[in-house]
Amino acid sequence: VSDHSLPLLTGLNPEQEAAVTLPAEHALILAGAGSGKTRVLTTRIAWLLQTGQVSPGGVLAVTFTNKAAKELLTRLTAMLPLNARGMWIGTFHGLCNRFLRAHYKLANLPQSFQILDTQDQLSAIKRLCKQFNIDDERFPPKQLQWFIAGCKEDGERPSDVVARDEETRKKIEIYQLYEDQCQREGVVDFGELMLRSYELLRDNDAVREHYRRRFRHVLIDEFQDTNRLQYAWIKMIVGLPSESGGAVLAVGDDDQSIYAFRGARVGNMEDFVREFEVRHQIKLEENYRSYSNILDSANHLISHNKKRLGKNLRTSQGAGEPVRVYESATDFAEAEWVVEELRQLVRGDGFSRSEIAILYRSNAQSRVIETQLFNAGVPYRVYGGLRFFERAEIKHALAYLRLLENSRDDTSFLRVVNFPPRGIGARSIEQLQDAARAAGSSLHDAVTSISGKAGANLAGFVAQIDVLREQTAGSTLREIIETVLHSSGLVDHYRADKEGADRIENLEELVNAAESFVTQEGFGRDAVALPVDEHGTPLTQSPVSQGLDPDAPVLNDAFVAPIDAETGETLSPLAAFLTHAALEAGDNQAQAGQEAVQLMSVHASKGLEFDAVFITGLEEGLFPHENSMSDYEGVEEERRLMYVAITRARKRLYLSHAQTRMLHGKTRYHVRSRFLEELPEGALKWITPKRSGFGSGFGSGSGAGFNAGARGTGMAQPAWGRSGIGVETFASPPVPPQKAAPSHGIRAGIKVFHTKFGEGKVQAVEGVGDDARAQVNFPRHGVKWLALSVAKLTVV
Ligand code: ATP
Ligand code: MG
Repeated sequence: VSDHSLPLLTGLNPEQEAAVTLPAEHALILAGAGSGKTRVLTTRIAWLLQTGQVSPGGVLAVTFTNKAAKELLTRLTAMLPLNARGMWIGTFHGLCNRFLRAHYKLANLPQSFQILDTQDQLSAIKRLCKQFNIDDERFPPKQLQWFIAGCKEDGERPSDVVARDEETRKKIEIYQLYEDQCQREGVVDFGELMLRSYELLRDNDAVREHYRRRFRHVLIDEFQDTNRLQYAWIKMIVGLPSESGGAVLAVGDDDQSIYAFRGARVGNMEDFVREFEVRHQIKLEENYRSYSNILDSANHLISHNKKRLGKNLRTSQGAGEPVRVYESATDFAEAEWVVEELRQLVRGDGFSRSEIAILYRSNAQSRVIETQLFNAGVPYRVYGGLRFFERAEIKHALAYLRLLENSRDDTSFLRVVNFPPRGIGARSIEQLQDAARAAGSSLHDAVTSISGKAGANLAGFVAQIDVLREQTAGSTLREIIETVLHSSGLVDHYRADKEGADRIENLEELVNAAESFVTQEGFGRDAVALPVDEHGTPLTQSPVSQGLDPDAPVLNDAFVAPIDAETGETLSPLAAFLTHAALEAGDNQAQAGQEAVQLMSVHASKGLEFDAVFITGLEEGLFPHENSMSDYEGVEEERRLMYVAITRARKRLYLSHAQTRMLHGKTRYHVRSRFLEELPEGALKWITPKRSGFGSGFGSGSGAGFNAGARGTGMAQPAWGRSGIGVETFASPPVPPQKAAPSHGIRAGIKVFHTKFGEGKVQAVEGVGDDARAQVNFPRHGVKWLALSVAKLTVV
C-alpha cells in the first residue's frame, strides 16, 4: 500500500479498511443496511486504481440502477482524477447492451438493434397471438410474457424447455414464434440482452477469454437480488477459480432481498461462496446512517423473519427523535398530514426538501399524495410510475424515429401506422399482417401487395416514413426529432386536443433530452472500448469484425464508441439515442433544477438514503401486500421490504396508515399493518392515540376526523402529464458545452474518400475530438456513420 492511498482510507473503520484493501481474491461482504457496503465498493475501486493494481479498463462494476451507476462514477471521479470511460460500470442490462453492441455480428444482431421495454414486449406478444389465432383466454398475453421472461431467466431457449403437459407445449411453441418475430424485426427484450450475452460468452472461446483476461476486478453491489441468469453471466465473464479470471467482490444483505418475485435468488450468495471458493467473508456491523430509534426499529422488525443468515447492526449515534406514527381516517387525510409535517421539517427544522422521501408500497398510492403536494405548492419528483420514456406521446415519437432507423420494426410500425389517425382501419392492418406473414416480410415491405383504398393509405404512410428518412439525412439529432414531430402530424394532433398541452411539452422535452444526450453523454454511456495500441489506434484484430484474437493485449482505458475497427463504421446518433431511451426508461426524471421532495416506491428506494423518510399506507393488504399475504415466504419478503424502507432514514422517520383508501376506483377499508406491531414501543411516538389490538379497524373515532368528502370537490388537479418531467436524467455529470472548432477538416458538403467505401459526400458531422463522427453518403454503399478517429477519410 503506497502512501498516496491513505487519504482514501481515512475515516473507514478497521473492517471496512480490510475490505477495501483485500488482496485480489474473491470475497463477499455480507452486512446490514447503512453499514457502508456501497462505500466500501466504491472506495475499493478507487484504491485499486490509485495503487496501480488495475487500469480503468480492467474494472467491471454492476449496480442496481442507472442512477446508482452514475452516482458511483460521480463519487469515483470526485475521489480521483481519471478517465472513467474505460470502466464498465452499469446495470446488468446496460452492460449487456454495451457488450452486444460491440459484438453484434457474433451475436447475430443488426448493428442498430432496438430494445423492447416491457410494454413493447407485451404488445409484440399480443400481436403474435392475434396473428396465430391463439386463444387469449387460455393464454393471456401477460402470462405468456411472464413465461417467456421466466424461461430466459433460467437460460432456456424454446428447445430447452421441458414440456410437461399440453399447455406448456403450446407455450413453448409461442415462445419460439415470439423469438422468430424478434429476430426478424431486429429487436431484443430485456431478458434477451442478458441471455444473448451469456450465450455468446459461453459459446465463443475467444470472446470469453478476452473478457476474462480484461476484467481483473469485478464488483457487484446488491448481490442478494441477482437472479440465476445474472449469476451465470458473472461466472461466464469472470471464470471460476480453476479458470483463473479476475477477482469478484460481491456485496449484499440477505435482509434486503426484495426481488424474489422477479427471480432473484438469495441462494446465489451461498453458491458464490462455494463455487468461487471464497476465503474472505467480511461483516460490517456498524451502521453509519441512522439514529438508534430508527435502527432499533429496523432490527426489531426484521428479527421477526425466520429465514435469515443473521447479522448485527449497531450505531454509535444518539437515539434521535422517536419514530412518529400517525393514523388517519382517509388516504386523503394521510396525505394532508404528510404535507403538514413536511412543511414543519423544511421551515421549522431546516431540512432540505430533496433530502426528504415519501415512500409507498404501490405506485398507485402516489396520486393522492401528489395532489396534496401540488395544491400546497410543494415541488416534488416522482421516481418510477409512468416514466418519461414510457409516456404514450413519447413512445409514439420514438416509434417514428425507430422506423427511420429500422423499417423492419413492426412493433413501431403498428404503433403509429394510424397515429395520428389517417384512415387506416383494423381490417386493412389485418390484411397487411396476413400479406407480410405470407411473404415472410416486414409490414413495411408488404404494403405494396395491398390494393385499393386501404393500399393507398398504407402506401401513403410508408412513403411518409421513407421521405422523412431522406429528408433528415444529414440533419443533427435535434433537427431529426423536430422534423419528425412536425411532419408526422403528432404535434398538430396534440395541439387540436384540449388536454394536449402537457403532451406537447413532453415532446419538446424529448428534443431537449436528445440535445443533452449529444452534448453531455457524448454517446459514452453504452459505448464500448475496443483494443487499441499505445497511440489509441484500434487494433485491426477487432472483436467486432474478426472475432477476438486470444492473444490480443488487455484493453487499456482509451475510449472509443462502438466502432468497426476496420471501416470506422459506427452507430448513428439516432440509434445511440434510441438505445439510451430504452435503457433509461427505468430511471427517474425531475422537475429540472428544483429542490424537490422525492416520491418513490419502496422498491425504488433501495440503496438510497434521506434525512427524513415517510412510509405511508401501512395497512394490511397494502403493506404487506395482499398478493404476498397468503404464504409465509411472501410475508417475509414484505417484511424485508419494510426493513429496506425504514433503513433509508438518517434522522427522522414517519409512519402512517389510513382507515379507508381509494384504490383502483374503490373505497377500501383497511386495518393497521402487522409491521407496526413489530416495532419496539420505546422507539415510537404515536401522534394519534394507539388503539388496542392489531388492526384498528374502521369506524371507531380517531383524532384525524373523517373528511373523505373533500375528495373530488373541485380541487385543482395536478398536471399529471407534467409532474416529474425534466432533464435531470441527462444532466450529470456536468460537462462544459463542447463547441471547439473541429480539427479534422471534415464538414458537411465536402467530398471525401474512404478506403473501403470509396468516394462519398459528407452530410453531417457531430461531436468533437475522439467522439467526432460524420455521416457520409457513398453512392455505392449508402449512408454510413463513421467515427473520424478511426475511419481514414481523405478530403478530395
Ligand atoms: P444499503 O444496504 O442501504 O445499500 P450500504 O451498506 O451500502 O447501505 P452506504 O450507503 O455505503 O451503506 O453507507 C451508508 C452511509 O454511511 C453513507 O452515507 C456513507 O457515506 C456512510 N458511511 C459509511 N461508512 C462510514 C464511515 N466509516 N464513516 C462515516 N460514514 C460512513
Ligand atoms: Mg448500498
